[in-house]
Amino acid sequence: MIMDKQEFRKRAHQVVDWMADYMEQKAHYRVTPEVQPGDIFGQLPNQAPEQPESFDDIFEDFKEVILPGMTHWQHPAFFGYFPANNSEPSILAEMLMSTLGAQCMSWLTSPAATELEEKVINWLRDAKGLDASWKGVIQDTASTATLCALLAARERASGFSINAEGFSGQENYRVYSSEHAHSSVDKATRIAGLGLANLVKIPVDEDFKMLPEALEEAILADLENGFTPICVVSALGTTSSGAIDPIEAIGKIAHRHSLWHHIDAAYAGTALLLPEFRWMIKGHELADSYVFNPHKWMFTNFDCSVLFIKNAEAFIHTFSMTPEYLKTTQDDHVHNYRDWGIQLGRRFRALKLWMVIRSFGLEGIREKLRHHLALTKMAKKRVEIEDNLIIEAPTDLNVICFRFVEKSLSTTVLNALNQAWLQRVNQTGRVFFTHTVLDGKYVIRWVIGQTDVLQEHIDLAWTVLMEELEKVKAALL
Ligand SMILES: *Cc1c(COP(=O)(O)O)cnc(C)c1O
Repeated sequence: MIMDKQEFRKRAHQVVDWMADYMEQKAHYRVTPEVQPGDIFGQLPNQAPEQPESFDDIFEDFKEVILPGMTHWQHPAFFGYFPANNSEPSILAEMLMSTLGAQCMSWLTSPAATELEEKVINWLRDAKGLDASWKGVIQDTASTATLCALLAARERASGFSINAEGFSGQENYRVYSSEHAHSSVDKATRIAGLGLANLVKIPVDEDFKMLPEALEEAILADLENGFTPICVVSALGTTSSGAIDPIEAIGKIAHRHSLWHHIDAAYAGTALLLPEFRWMIKGHELADSYVFNPHKWMFTNFDCSVLFIKNAEAFIHTFSMTPEYLKTTQDDHVHNYRDWGIQLGRRFRALKLWMVIRSFGLEGIREKLRHHLALTKMAKKRVEIEDNLIIEAPTDLNVICFRFVEKSLSTTVLNALNQAWLQRVNQTGRVFFTHTVLDGKYVIRWVIGQTDVLQEHIDLAWTVLMEELEKVKAALL
């Protein structure tokens, strides 16, 4: 029987009960599954069913086949990558969004969605201390937002001629980022047709922050050699270590040479909700765009990325296309967000931001962020007092990069040991960390920002780390 409205009501209640159970019990799962490649694929039928199947059967398979193959990103002992947090109000908003199933490409296709988007973006802009004249748009991911910024930079530099006529072959455009910038900058440079060879990676200082003098030198050298610098992407919180590039110094250089300055604050941008972190954004008024992901540290379900733009008109000029069938009589008076990015169709993401902000209150969000930062301080102390553990990068926020060291051992041996340590820790399934490499050293990244992380999960992480370190030392030393 195909699901009718009555059956939907019954099953929706059943699913919601499961969801509430999951939220209560998520810490009891392994963080990562014990599966081998192909395990799930092999359990699924090779052909789609011809006949309707019962929801009981489908839900049973969800629990028995799918769930055991999931990584539990909402597990409070998930310390890897950056979190992709959800929260109860955000989940409820996703339910409402999917029920309405609205496609929010223009004002007319859902006036409330457009106007709510504009309002919550203004709320966030003001709560983060960003310039009050800036406008914004919600996009799927920071990768898309950075690509959009790069495309707008390209069009501004070319007088919108590449959109119109394609590359002439004479352009010698250059883009700059620190050597620790996220790979999405490399990807955007490729996709924007600028060529990866024209992305100039600027060296960093001992804290992994971009060296502004080196940026200026690179720009001057490029000008000398006939290149046209068009854009610099600074990182407000690198993915490797959370390093904060000097926004103001970079902004002044960009301004002096008429470069588009895009700030990638994908993860750390949420910290601007705390007045004590506003120093990070000092000088941003000179920049052109800024992106951060509420879907990382702001308790809003993936996907939800907010791009703020200083001059929305030039930005929109890069993307707007209005074929006859999309024209509406309100076009002169409203935002049509389809013109603020790549995709035409858009999800109603503003609803989850609205529900998260109202349910927590800005103060509630700040409280959670401060809690995570306090847990990070405690965790950091534990690492610091161990003779053989070293923190290899500043911990401005809640990313701790550490490793085991022993004077008599070479970097190569230590790298292998730390890698083996991380593997053992993750194999327990009780916690989950990821790694990075800083100056050739393999380090474990401990990101303390999951929505529901508590002291007890820090204690658990520490116990597992110490137990497995003893074992790996016994095995390898
Ligand atoms: C996570 C991250 C990104 C990519 O974010 P997506 O939304 O997944 O595209 C880009 N830059 C930085 C600094 C990040 O931490």
